[in-house]
Amino acid sequence: MDQSSLTWIEEEMARAREAGLLTTIRTIESPMEGRVTIDGKQLLNFCANNYLGLANHPRLAAAAKAAIDRFGIGPGAVRTIAGTTSLHVELEHKLAEFKGAEACITFQSGFSANLATIPALVGPEDVIFSDELNHASIIDGCRLSRARVVRYAHCDVADLRRKVAEAGPYRRGLIITDGVFSMDGDIAPLDEICEAAEDLGLLLMVDDAHGEGVLGRGGRGIVDHFGLHGRVHVEVGTLSKAFGVVGGLVTGAAVIAEWLRQRGRPFLFSSAMTAPDVAACIEAVNVLSESTELVDRLWDNAATLKEGMRSLGFDIGHSQTPIIPVMLGEAPLAQAFSRKLFEAGVFATAIGYPTVPMGKARIRVMNSAAHSREDLEEALDIFAAVGRELGVLTG
Ligand SMILES: *Cc1c(COP(=O)(O)O)cnc(C)c1O
Repeated sequence: MDQSSLTWIEEEMARAREAGLLTTIRTIESPMEGRVTIDGKQLLNFCANNYLGLANHPRLAAAAKAAIDRFGIGPGAVRTIAGTTSLHVELEHKLAEFKGAEACITFQSGFSANLATIPALVGPEDVIFSDELNHASIIDGCRLSRARVVRYAHCDVADLRRKVAEAGPYRRGLIITDGVFSMDGDIAPLDEICEAAEDLGLLLMVDDAHGEGVLGRGGRGIVDHFGLHGRVHVEVGTLSKAFGVVGGLVTGAAVIAEWLRQRGRPFLFSSAMTAPDVAACIEAVNVLSESTELVDRLWDNAATLKEGMRSLGFDIGHSQTPIIPVMLGEAPLAQAFSRKLFEAGVFATAIGYPTVPMGKARIRVMNSAAHSREDLEEALDIFAAVGRELGVLTG
């Protein structure tokens, strides 16, 4: 093989490394919990989207093991060719019922749910009105659809209406927004966006990845949070965050789920979730249907940690959800902060440009029902010590 044709990659990597734009991936030697083991050392874990602590829940693990005994592991092929197991069908029924939707279809991930859904709904003669801070998988889904994309100002419904009025002729129009924006923890004004969609005769799609299992009654998601059942055409969700497993879902009208079974390319051309994944997801729905305990604990923990961070003197932005951005400003400071936290026993990621704007670097603190009160107190002590050491906190 001619290695010289690959030297440009090494050059690009070197440039990125110099600019501090290469990510290093930590190796975890334990289950995803409130604490994880890295390099043989236990750390408090504030990185994961494991909102409800379901990633290592005994009931989910037992369900996954039982499913392997009954159904084996792999799906064999895509569902349209090799058929689908009764487990997959059961999960879709349970999710639709849990969320109060007419129907549900599952995918291998939230990412593939977006890649399936957007190109199945719109094409080159159509327009997508997209929040400027939407997730990468929405952006990629929009590109694949070849529809014209018009970005509106973040969560700004007046700007959305203005952009629709100025858009000129098109066949179909689709509004897409994240439900919860994962870098700041703010919630899309879906009630107002829904009114706009109804006034303007547009389709409406929300990607509720960070709201699934978090927002709404007992974690039923953003449509439930705003009481918009039956009014949002497509609600995309993930089974990889609060649900603690892996997979994606779309809920909405039965005709949408049926259409995606016929036309969603990641559904037609990529194999389904494995049997243990699906069984664990079914058990997650059971756990959430029986009690709001985990969701309540998540929100309690988040309130405690937000209050603690504020009284220490940290700027934690305007989050409306359990996501806490600890705002630090410049990327090198955020990176140094994250390193010091790590040395002191807290695993929390620094996030900088281009994921967030220049000068808005932060530590993103992810709450979980898996944290105990003692975990939170210990974390606050460590944040305080690092904050003083690096001059972020004075006094
Ligand atoms: C995390 C996320 C996804 C991707 O979900 P996966 O199941 O991990 O593929 C999609 N959309 C949004 C808004 C997300 O935050």
